[in-house]
Amino acid sequence: MKPLSVKSRIAVWLTLLMGLLAVLLLAFLLSISRVVAAQSSMSQLSQTVRSNLSQTGMSNGRLALGDGFSFYQNGVSTLIYSREKALLAGQIPVSFSVEEDFQNGITRVVNVGGGQYLVLDLWLPMGWDNGVWLRGLMEVPENQQLTSPLLRVALIVMPAFMALAALGSYWIAGRAFRPLDSIMSAAASINEAQDLSRRIGLPPGRDEFSQLAATFDQLFQRLEKSFESEQQFAADASHELRTPVSIIKGACEYAEKYDETPEERLETISMIHRQANRMSQLISQLLSMTRLDQGTETAKLEPVKLNDLIRSLCQEQAYDPHRLILELQEEVTAAADPALLSRLIQNLVENGFKYGRPDGCVWISVRQDSGEILLEVRDNGMGIPSEQQDKIWQRFYRADPARSGEGGTGLGLAIVRQIAQLHGGYMTLESVPRVGSAFTLHLPAAESTDQAKA
Ligand code: ADP
Repeated sequence: MKPLSVKSRIAVWLTLLMGLLAVLLLAFLLSISRVVAAQSSMSQLSQTVRSNLSQTGMSNGRLALGDGFSFYQNGVSTLIYSREKALLAGQIPVSFSVEEDFQNGITRVVNVGGGQYLVLDLWLPMGWDNGVWLRGLMEVPENQQLTSPLLRVALIVMPAFMALAALGSYWIAGRAFRPLDSIMSAAASINEAQDLSRRIGLPPGRDEFSQLAATFDQLFQRLEKSFESEQQFAADASHELRTPVSIIKGACEYAEKYDETPEERLETISMIHRQANRMSQLISQLLSMTRLDQGTETAKLEPVKLNDLIRSLCQEQAYDPHRLILELQEEVTAAADPALLSRLIQNLVENGFKYGRPDGCVWISVRQDSGEILLEVRDNGMGIPSEQQDKIWQRFYRADPARSGEGGTGLGLAIVRQIAQLHGGYMTLESVPRVGSAFTLHLPAAESTDQAKA
């Protein structure tokens, strides 16, 4: 069986609920009406029998009935019995076919065959040792309750009310779910046409669907952006790799075709070597960037003494101490991943040399300032024009490829920025063309990191 749509399910549920409510209400009305009817019958019975009682007396030792006495009135039959329970006057209704004991002043319900009677007996004493019984009998009408006008109205109105509830809930649910149809059709067309530029585009509203649609649109926008940058990345990466591969291929073909002198051959081999190195550098940078992107390489933060880290990095890399000047007065400890932070500093220092003057210097300084740790790598090199200062952080962007030569991949600063973000920090740049550049890593101070963790 085809599952019901949500709006049909809501309509069915509401209708069933209304039905249940209607049945309960009807049952309640029935019982109320029965009680009311029973009470009014009882009071009618009592009134009639008592009025007849007042009309009953003795005259000259004989039973005397007043003019107001009535043996049958308002559905009540009145019978007069002797003390010995012999019928003196009145007619027992045919359907009252049972023997019922006399009980003075108590109204009760007596079952007779298929129906019911209300019975009330009153003892009327006469003289000092005599008297008569007055018995009132009133048949309880069958289905008396159904004759109540309120019930009749309820029986007509309730089905109409239920039908209205079913139609109304179906209509309201249909209207309420209409935006969902737009969301579904937009999502389906994005899926089918692989068109990430499509948006649901619901007008802004305060209901849940408008908010959901707006969130979906933001999601699609982010997906589109990240899809585009993935494509761009793949295109750039293959382009960057293609260049050294074609140089290597060309060099090999030339060497195969022409008889090179030993010097030329050596030159070819060294060119192939350089290109292979470039490819390997590019591949390792691509790999580390992908790992950082995918979160397979995450920052394992630990307290790191920055001065010690910088000194040991300089030793490992054997930087020229005349050209790399350390300004490390303050002892600063940061929550950092030593391996990632070393890679960040190394990228910045090597750029400083690469884009510096031939005899230029690079300075590293560390200081703590109002809740932030600042690690600055400064050079007195060529500087970066202001219109390029935003772009240099993009992957594969190289402001001056001729200057960076074969050693540049355009990935170094993108990795620097990624590492800064993994540490909860960010990078800033101040640069003046032909004067120099200062790249600063801003990290949250260790105490504020602790506070944030607490
Ligand atoms: P790469 O150095 O491999 O080209 P980077 O991402 O490290 O790639 O740098 C991107 C670009 O930013 C470089 O091509 C260069 O033009 C510019 N750049 C980076 N560091 C400096 C610097 N210290 N001085 C001047 N320009 C720089």
